[in-house]
Amino acid sequence: YQVPLPQNEPVLNYAPGSNETINVKKAIEELRSRTVEVPMYIGNDEVFTNKKIKLSPPHDHQHVLGYASEGDASHVSAAIDAALEARKNWANLPWNERAAVFLKAADLLAGPYRAKINAATMLGQSKNAFQAEIDAACELIDFLRFNVAFYQEIMAEQPLSSKGVWNKLEYRPLEGFVFALTPFNFTAIAGNLPASAALMGNVCVWKPAYTQIYSANVIMEVFKLAGLPDGVINMIYVDGPVTGEVVFNHADFAGIHFTGSTGVFQNIWKTIGGNIHKYKSYPRIVGETGGKDFVIAHKSADAKAVAVGLVRGAFEYQGQKCSAASRAYIPSNIWEDVKKYMLADLREIKMGPTEDFSNFINAVIDEKAFDKISGYISAAKNDPNVEIIAGGGFDKSVGYFIEPTVILTRDPKYKTMCEEIFGPVLSIYVYDENAWVETLELVNTTSPYALTGAVFSQDRYAIDQATKALENAAGNFYINDKPTGAVVGQQPFGGARASGTNDKAGSKLNLLRWVNARTIKETF
Ligand code: GLU
Repeated sequence: YQVPLPQNEPVLNYAPGSNETINVKKAIEELRSRTVEVPMYIGNDEVFTNKKIKLSPPHDHQHVLGYASEGDASHVSAAIDAALEARKNWANLPWNERAAVFLKAADLLAGPYRAKINAATMLGQSKNAFQAEIDAACELIDFLRFNVAFYQEIMAEQPLSSKGVWNKLEYRPLEGFVFALTPFNFTAIAGNLPASAALMGNVCVWKPAYTQIYSANVIMEVFKLAGLPDGVINMIYVDGPVTGEVVFNHADFAGIHFTGSTGVFQNIWKTIGGNIHKYKSYPRIVGETGGKDFVIAHKSADAKAVAVGLVRGAFEYQGQKCSAASRAYIPSNIWEDVKKYMLADLREIKMGPTEDFSNFINAVIDEKAFDKISGYISAAKNDPNVEIIAGGGFDKSVGYFIEPTVILTRDPKYKTMCEEIFGPVLSIYVYDENAWVETLELVNTTSPYALTGAVFSQDRYAIDQATKALENAAGNFYINDKPTGAVVGQQPFGGARASGTNDKAGSKLNLLRWVNARTIKETF
């Protein structure tokens, strides 16, 4: 087979008055005007319960977009049973037939469903139009299409044969079901975690974050319309520990595809370890977890480029990206310029609801996040050793709004330089411009994470030094660019250390985790 050659889906620009803007605004209005009842999808059943999860825009928390039906342990068991039943046919379907489902889903998202998936992400997760477009439309479409192309490459990788001997590698799905536990911050990741495993012939139980159910429901609608058979991906909303109790005690548990916090992932890993004797196979454990992503500028760096990288890297989607720039190390010789450009940029930035497309900053995801992030800001306000040089305000009366906040610290180990905050807070340490080597060491040793990082420099030797000194400090390393915005097929995404298992999303490395390879030798 020769699958369609994947190309990155072009990013539409949502200029005022453009067709795409009009379409998304219409979709937003339509979604806002009705209250949706979101079921769990288990086999061929749409399951409604009396226990409701309220779905609201984070920037307008009194408004009700809909209600999702929360389940209990019996629904987790039912989802596993439905998955295992569906496996009988799905695992045996020729791979190109499975691929066709996801290619069709990609086309639906690129065309008739683009406005709806973007609108749902803008309302449900408080992303601005551009952030929704690069995530819910482009990245999800890219994942679906590139995975098919990578799958074809995997199939083509065969061992040597010789005269009288034909060796084959057969890529079979895992024996059991895969559990996909997905985050709120990227609709694309939420869709990709079950879809990539399913493409490889696996069946899934998918539990989205409660704060992403609204757009997850649109993904399920698209998958079904694209011809995904019932039971291949079952979507449930059940309390975490209750779900874990059923999933991780099941003999057919074959793997977890996870994006979320380091703490949750480590607990899951321990649970799986404790239950290892119960499973038929060693489960695949694939996870992308936290980050404390750095930007380090060299004394040769262009101050304006650094400022742009910081503002975009730290504050796009309110800093709620695992990849967000959250600690910066700026040399004293360019600091005043970096500060000037950064503060000028920040003064231009507007904050407010996503429905007004001129707002760059929207709300953080929920009250728990708001309280955690604002707690760090309040503590900084009361600490004489640090200074808030931009933002610092927050208000949750209508939506969970927090101003983009920049903390300047004289202590490179101040807690906001070390701990993951997952919000619009950037901490900056200004170092003596001659202490470059020592500062590289500081960057490398300050945090347990290693997801993304960036170096800004015009000096080739310095770039080389940073690349070597920080070789284990970031799975995605950027030179003269912000540390966010990895593009599928271009910058495979994933880190190491406490940031995850490094099975790069949107790459062969990831897809290979979802197969049981069988070697077949035949002699003639
Ligand atoms: N892939 C995203 C980026 O490069 C980050 C994903 C995440 O936050 O989990 O910005």
